[in-house]
Amino acid sequence: MYPAPFNYHRAGSVAEAISLLSNLGDGVRALAGGQSLLVLLKARFDTVTDLVDLGRIRGLDGIEAGNGEYRIGALATHARLARSPVAEAIPIFQDAANGIADNQVRSRGTIGGNVSSGDPSCDWPTLLIALDAQVHCEGPDGKRAVPVNEFVEDLYLTVLGDGEIVTGISFPAPEKGAAGAYVGFKRCAPAYPTTSVGVQLTMDGDDCKDVRVSLGSSGLTPIHATGAEAELRGKLLTDDVIVRAADAAVAESDPIDDQRGTPEFKQLLINTLVKRGIGVARRRCAGEQVEVSHEYY
Ligand SMILES: Cc1cc2nc3c(=O)[nH]c(=O)nc-3n(C[C@H](O)[C@H](O)[C@H](O)COP(=O)(O)OP(=O)(O)OC[C@H]3O[C@@H](n4cnc5c(N)ncnc54)[C@H](O)[C@@H]3O)c2cc1C
Repeated sequence: MYPAPFNYHRAGSVAEAISLLSNLGDGVRALAGGQSLLVLLKARFDTVTDLVDLGRIRGLDGIEAGNGEYRIGALATHARLARSPVAEAIPIFQDAANGIADNQVRSRGTIGGNVSSGDPSCDWPTLLIALDAQVHCEGPDGKRAVPVNEFVEDLYLTVLGDGEIVTGISFPAPEKGAAGAYVGFKRCAPAYPTTSVGVQLTMDGDDCKDVRVSLGSSGLTPIHATGAEAELRGKLLTDDVIVRAADAAVAESDPIDDQRGTPEFKQLLINTLVKRGIGVARRRCAGEQVEVSHEYY
């Protein structure tokens, strides 16, 4: 089906995008890669009066490292991110980037659009919670940075105000010796994960010095699993401790019943994936090269 007619505007700068989005009324939306928005418009699940295309704004697709942090522009595509030096340096980043959809979607979809869609099934917000990222926003009231775990408020609802856009993402460079794993479970490449888990570990010998755990497709928003982290932080990583962490993650999840599975099935997956994520992250912390990404069933 074709979308209902709309006016198309191409923004040349962040300031112009903000001005258009602020002044064109309730029916206006930002457009980035179109991989979520155009699908919704074509299915007539959403209608718009105006689209403001951000795609030609210069300088909004950078991928940079320096001063102890990584900075990624909102328009960086999944495909570029998967091939970037960030993915080479941070295995958990590569796990997530390579698992998103198929080549076509990865070539068009952007990290900014992925985060802004407020979809708990999207991989970037879940991965970025594990990396303790900030979302950089700019709007009529100026600039602000929001911790990624506070960015999605409810299903498909973010903290973005009228006229406000995401300009980029930043996160601290992981400590030396830290490593993570991002593991998801999905039916096929061009499908969103049934559930996904991110684990970023910092080890001190056999003890867990620090950890972040995140869950995707496990509730109405991406979840920062602080209960699971509390079971792990400062502890010797025995099998019992890992089992308790996986159980805590399940208790923090609240998956919905949908075409991808029942809540019970998804919680079984979360339990398994948390254990697998911790196991892979720990081996990577020890310097082993381990390949993981989404698995298909
Ligand atoms: C078949 C298929 C399979 C997919 N599978 C996966 C998957 O497995 N994992 C996954 O993570 N994703 C998946 N996706 C989603 C895809 O990865 C895109 O990231 C996602 O569609 C949004 O990015 P986009 O750039 O296309 O944004 P758009 O579709 O252009 O926009 C999405 C929403 O964000 C808003 N928006 C976009 N950019 C900004 C910005 N900079 N500031 C403020 N608001 C903005 C738009 O107004 C819109 O509401 C899939 C998509 C398809 C079509």
